[in-house]
Amino acid sequence: MRRNYCFRTIVSHRTVLDTSGCFASAGIMAAHVLLVLLLPVVSVWLVSCWWLRRYCFYRRRTFFADGLPATLFVTAHPDDEAMFFAPAILGLAPAPRWLLCLSSGNYYNKGEIRKKELLDSCAVLGIPPSKVTLIDHRDLPDNPSVEWDIALLSALILEQIEAHRIALVVTFDAGGVSAHTNHRSLYTAVRYLISEEKLPGGCRVLVLETVPLFRKYVSLLDLPSAWIQTPDVLFVLTQEEADLAKSAMRCHRSQLLWFRRLYLPFSRYMVINSLNYLQLEGERGFSPAEKPGQLRCVDKQTLRYRPMETFPSLG
Ligand SMILES: [Zn+2]
Repeated sequence: MRRNYCFRTIVSHRTVLDTSGCFASAGIMAAHVLLVLLLPVVSVWLVSCWWLRRYCFYRRRTFFADGLPATLFVTAHPDDEAMFFAPAILGLAPAPRWLLCLSSGNYYNKGEIRKKELLDSCAVLGIPPSKVTLIDHRDLPDNPSVEWDIALLSALILEQIEAHRIALVVTFDAGGVSAHTNHRSLYTAVRYLISEEKLPGGCRVLVLETVPLFRKYVSLLDLPSAWIQTPDVLFVLTQEEADLAKSAMRCHRSQLLWFRRLYLPFSRYMVINSLNYLQLEGERGFSPAEKPGQLRCVDKQTLRYRPMETFPSLG
């Protein structure tokens, strides 16, 4: 009896061991299968990043058939130029480039410090102080809860365009990259200038694409996605240029909190800028009956329509 009892115990114990072993080996096998399936995908993705970076660099000069245009970058705060637009600013060199910054970034009462930081950053990006204009207007406060006056904004932007014979304006799109209200106001202002046909002939507007959060902090790994989305213009920085962009951002010493230090290596906007032309639907020959007063923005190549929100009153 006693021997039988022991035997049963041992058998039972072995059964338990064998079952867990089965689960373990099934798990290992599943992991292997997953690895075998994922490895080619990851490899192709990484090679695509490497190849597209080289390709975009060599193709950069062909984006603008008539030569590099005199360009005005329109930003809302000191540091926008380095945080978001560095790939386009560096990518358009040696074209003449101007910067119009619509506030001193005085939300934390550091406006005076930030003015100096902006000039330092622009110098690193190849824009001399003589081509930097910073507006410090009481009606244009650095404040995420304040919508800026569109009439005032558009007048200030137009003044710069005419003064420097600008052929290309670069600013935020409707999403404003970070959804900051001040960023979005700039988009509304340039859209107003286009809709009212106030821009000089030949002057075009490029808006910086806002990407979803999951694409925002993967740096160069976002390159294949950006390419597939077929933006009108795609700038990707070389390693040397990316270092320059980081140096420009480090000029904004008053802004370098811990999360912005993490932003430098991980944000795709430090190495990639995908931009689309802003234009009215009528330009592409759509029904004239729809044109008056019914403004829509259209992505030039993808033909995706972006319905406009209600236009703000200019009264
Ligand atoms: Zn900003």
